[in-house]
Amino acid sequence: MKPFLIRLAAGLSTATLLLAACSRETPEQRLERKARKLHASILNLDSHVDTPLNLSRKGWKIGERHDWDQPGGGRLDLPRLEEAGLDAVFFAAFISQGRTDPAGFRGARLKADELIRLIRFVAIEHPEKVRIAFTPQDVEECMKMKKAAILIGLENGYPLGEDISLLSHYHQRGVRYVTLCHTENNQICDSSTDPGKPRWQGLSPFGYQVVQVMNRLGMLIDLSHVSDSTFYDVLKTTRTPVIASHSCCRGVYDHPRNLSDDMLLALARKGGVVQINLCSFYLKETAENPEREAALKALRARYGRYMSITDDLKREQYLTRYEKINRQFPEDLASVEDLVNHIDHAVRVAGIDHVGIGSDFDGGAELSDCRDVSQMHRITLELMKRGYKNSAIRKIWGDNFMRVFREVQDYPQKVQKAALPQDDPKRKNP
Ligand SMILES: [Zn+2]
Repeated sequence: MKPFLIRLAAGLSTATLLLAACSRETPEQRLERKARKLHASILNLDSHVDTPLNLSRKGWKIGERHDWDQPGGGRLDLPRLEEAGLDAVFFAAFISQGRTDPAGFRGARLKADELIRLIRFVAIEHPEKVRIAFTPQDVEECMKMKKAAILIGLENGYPLGEDISLLSHYHQRGVRYVTLCHTENNQICDSSTDPGKPRWQGLSPFGYQVVQVMNRLGMLIDLSHVSDSTFYDVLKTTRTPVIASHSCCRGVYDHPRNLSDDMLLALARKGGVVQINLCSFYLKETAENPEREAALKALRARYGRYMSITDDLKREQYLTRYEKINRQFPEDLASVEDLVNHIDHAVRVAGIDHVGIGSDFDGGAELSDCRDVSQMHRITLELMKRGYKNSAIRKIWGDNFMRVFREVQDYPQKVQKAALPQDDPKRKNP
């Protein structure tokens, strides 16, 4: 046979095989293939993971692939990030809340600085895979280079202490959003889940200053974890749109940590975005499990609440024991369908331009059918099943967040320009 005939025959048989494979696909498989294709082609941004907590764990290496069901496996590492096709991810430098006194502030600042150093070191160690991004333009640049963009968020404004100049320090170190508080009230504001009484009835006097300076620096203000009164105080004060980097909807599951419909609407009116998280306990009322509860109660009695442990060794011990409890008495988990119920609700209330995804992997996120970052395309699949158009899915997965990021970043320049004396064409040069 002549060479071109051989090539033609080979080409035809490949096409026949492909056609046969496609025709054997079930409608479900076909949709999954389409979802994966769409997922790979758009900008996927996750606005909140707590993976930096693993960076200091002994023997844990972000460059190696781990499994979520193995002890210490975690939910995200670079091989799984690549599998997930995630283009940009905010690594949270999370600081648990301690005493709001000079010694407490100093300790928190040292920890935050160390976490930021560890995050930036990931890019130094793996330059072929990731880069630290500081701007929306950097994220786009990374996409072109087929590298994942790592961005930095400071989860809890505790390390700022009462020194407003530290905002500029963190901005220079690459921090692009600050979550004003965590699970307890701090020197900036009240939290949605503090077990005690509100301390400030919203923002503190220092908190108002924090909002104004963040506006001037072009930093994103993150309202996840804050109390309702803090939320509204910030919205009244800020000149730029704000984000909730990992928050769900109270209208679907009533929890103080979730946003009410009124809050969703207010956030949208200000041009902001709510990034829905994958924490089962914020997505639905989980089934009671007395044995698990008893084991967790004993664990907390020994170590305190996980998020309040400031000692690294104790945190390590807590995690090992927590993972053991998880294997012994598995948690009742929400599903991707439950998650998309929250997305649906937020879209209905706030509009399609104001919703995104901030998983909270390695900070408590886990769904029965989305255990780690590598399974995130299943969210795209569920959105497609519910009839979301590609353009809407694109907005949810990153475009909405990027719009807010751009607007906030550009604000200082815009203000500066407006403050400059305008050229008067009638004025003659001296
Ligand atoms: Zn959080």
